[in-house]
Amino acid sequence: MEGTVRVRFAPSPTGFLHIGGLRTALYNYLFARSQPGGKFILRIEDTDQNRYVEGAEEDIIRSLEWCGMKVDEGPKNPGDVGPYRQSERKELYHEYAKELVEKGEAYYAFDTTDEIEQMRERLQKSGNPSPKYDAVTRQSMKNSLTLPQDEVQKRLDAGEEFVVRLKVPRRETIRFEDLIRGHVSFESKGLDDQVLLKSDGMPTYHLANVVDDHLMKITHVIRGEEWLSSTPKHILLYNAFGWEPPKMAHLPLIMSPSGGKLSKRKAEEEGIPVNTGAYIEQHYEPDALVNFLAFLGWSPGDDSEIHSLEELGRLFTLDRVNKGGAVFNHKKLLWYNEHYFREQSAAVLAERLKPIAKARNISLPDDDHLLPAISLLKDRVSKIDELLNMGRFFFEDPKEYDKNALKKWKDDSAGLVSEYRGMIEGYDESQFEAASLKKSLEEVINKNEVGFGKLMMPLRIAVTGQGFGPDLFESMELLGKDTVLRRIDAALERLG
Ligand code: GLU
Repeated sequence: MEGTVRVRFAPSPTGFLHIGGLRTALYNYLFARSQPGGKFILRIEDTDQNRYVEGAEEDIIRSLEWCGMKVDEGPKNPGDVGPYRQSERKELYHEYAKELVEKGEAYYAFDTTDEIEQMRERLQKSGNPSPKYDAVTRQSMKNSLTLPQDEVQKRLDAGEEFVVRLKVPRRETIRFEDLIRGHVSFESKGLDDQVLLKSDGMPTYHLANVVDDHLMKITHVIRGEEWLSSTPKHILLYNAFGWEPPKMAHLPLIMSPSGGKLSKRKAEEEGIPVNTGAYIEQHYEPDALVNFLAFLGWSPGDDSEIHSLEELGRLFTLDRVNKGGAVFNHKKLLWYNEHYFREQSAAVLAERLKPIAKARNISLPDDDHLLPAISLLKDRVSKIDELLNMGRFFFEDPKEYDKNALKKWKDDSAGLVSEYRGMIEGYDESQFEAASLKKSLEEVINKNEVGFGKLMMPLRIAVTGQGFGPDLFESMELLGKDTVLRRIDAALERLG
């Protein structure tokens, strides 16, 4: 369909999908969904074979799937403009590079690394601080503009190594409108004659990216700000081909809470997982990560915060993307996580928890006990796996007692706990419920004229091993009389 929006996420499989990359994918996806018939395309930019990381492509695909972003065209579900992996499109880049040479927009260059180095040194000595292979210096180098044509042909026929370079105009102001940043301009004077085809026959990012965006009929290029400085080179390439460039939108950087760009190192320092895979392994809620990332640099313009992927796709507009960097607030992510986590029923959470528990060798009780335990716990944790830590006492007797909590086990604790034990021992099963358990505790503290915590804390330690957790009386009801008495006895014995 003419005029339909087509956007692409074009990661290089040089590493696992970074959280910033995932946000770029998400904004592309949301923009596609915000437009009638909009298409979200995945293109793997794997021309840099030295930096290729095994498994990275699978990781990218799995991450998008986990978030619920459906790829409309990509390596796994190709449309009409494939292949969708650049390594499978090599011949195309050769054709297009040749086309530019024939049009006089690019040229073959045969200079060795040494020769280029010498040129740089020579120019530096004569006072040029940043020498380039450009409109001036290309005149004195070994290329198809300076060598006689038959010699060029001879060198090509002999299989001599060459690169193809773009003839960057000497003095030109390159302007474009960025949908986020507004008017942008660059001077061509600062640019090298860009290498388009490398001596190993592989295209550079610039050539492959432009050729593919054109052939894949991409209407909007939405990518991170770090690519802004590549855009003038791309615009020159579009001009050289005589093609209409797509619209451009450069997303703000993701910033670390302590300032500066959220680099891998910074993120690690601040305990922020960097790779999407880490969020998957750490059992974050995908809806939470999506919602959080959508708001990392964008907002719908009112004070609403909770939106599903589908809603976001309806609300998203590029003109509401911020220009300034967006600070990664991990607490906010956990807040989203709690929301999406708590929204699920105990039954759903129980099914999800089972494989997680199994992987950690924790055996869970049957659903009759598990579901009420989850209901008691879920408002106190942020992530599903934390149910296992905080709720461990539901599934097994405490093996040890939390050290900090033990500070609250005082000289009079054993006496108070035994007295309480004496009272509840007399209960029959039907009496063993939260309200009566609480009443008995009140009786004991009143009789002894001590504060609530004097008994509550030691009792919690004895029953759960921890200093905090869900409502103690409801927890005891759920654990049942035998278990509670057994644990109190064990604590009295061990803690005296
Ligand atoms: N392959 C580039 C990357 O790794 C693509 C940049 C772009 O979107 O043009 O991010």
